[in-house]
Amino acid sequence: MENNEKYQVLLYYQYVEVEDPEGFAQEHLAFCKDLGLKGRILVANEGINGTVSGTVEQTNTYMEAMHADPRFADMPFKVDEADGHAFKKMHVRPRPELVTLRLEDDIDPRKTTGKYLNPQEFYEAMQGEDTIILDARNDYEYDLGHFRGAIRPDIETFRELPQWVEENKDKLEGKKVLTYCTGGIRCEKFSGWLVEQGFEDVGQLHGGIATYGKDPEVKGDLWDGQLYVFDERISVPVNRKEHVVVGKDYFDGTPCERYVNCANPECNRQILASEENEHKYMRGCTHECRVHPRSLYIAEHNLSDDEIQARLDHIEKEDGVTQQ
Ligand SMILES: [Zn+2]
Repeated sequence: MENNEKYQVLLYYQYVEVEDPEGFAQEHLAFCKDLGLKGRILVANEGINGTVSGTVEQTNTYMEAMHADPRFADMPFKVDEADGHAFKKMHVRPRPELVTLRLEDDIDPRKTTGKYLNPQEFYEAMQGEDTIILDARNDYEYDLGHFRGAIRPDIETFRELPQWVEENKDKLEGKKVLTYCTGGIRCEKFSGWLVEQGFEDVGQLHGGIATYGKDPEVKGDLWDGQLYVFDERISVPVNRKEHVVVGKDYFDGTPCERYVNCANPECNRQILASEENEHKYMRGCTHECRVHPRSLYIAEHNLSDDEIQARLDHIEKEDGVTQQ
């Protein structure tokens, strides 16, 4: 590798009317490919949401071109430095909506949304009395890192959040409710929905955790763990004052920040696991996943039946018969 060129990863969204998302997606894909970008972009009638990687030159050209379009003239970009591409391919996909909340009536955040709080304001609000901090992400994102004291709604995906709120109204009533997510896009709708539900004091972290971690004043303070990101980096740091590990190894509960996907392609569950445990458990989240005929771990390591049996015997000897 003699590639010393610097790369950047961009994260951005804009709620703005886009006519003909399908036509836009086609043209935009060609444009991004021409530039040499890789990443994932969603386009809907209600706007755009993307994350792309490329060299500094490619990504800067992209940002300039987007800002030259009146629809995206003041779209904020969160920019991370990187050593290379963070994606394998370039996709631009038309979608009915940018984020899905399973609502009967969709929320238009351009009309109804929670109060935008910049990192400094959010930092101060978090420490206020009678404040509830709600993580508006999926459970595996929370498990790797979150704001200190934030509630982890007992849900698997963000889509189930409104139902969780309805069932836990007593926890939120009369409180100041703060919401946050990776880049801010999920909170635009979720906080708007909270406002529509009658919660009067709702604040959202503007620009999301990605912006909070870069703020020169707060420096990511009060964030514990790492930020889960939806690209090949999997996680990035947030708190530049102190690093507290909150992730726990799926197998033995020890502090861990390393995500792997279960080797059974039909399961593909994300689990936190040390390298040692990945090998010990053949990257399988259950016994069934470990011995699955299509296990990617077994294929990658070319394990013979005898070798698989030896690993299973080792697990049984160390952990006892009853293991997950
Ligand atoms: Zn599994």
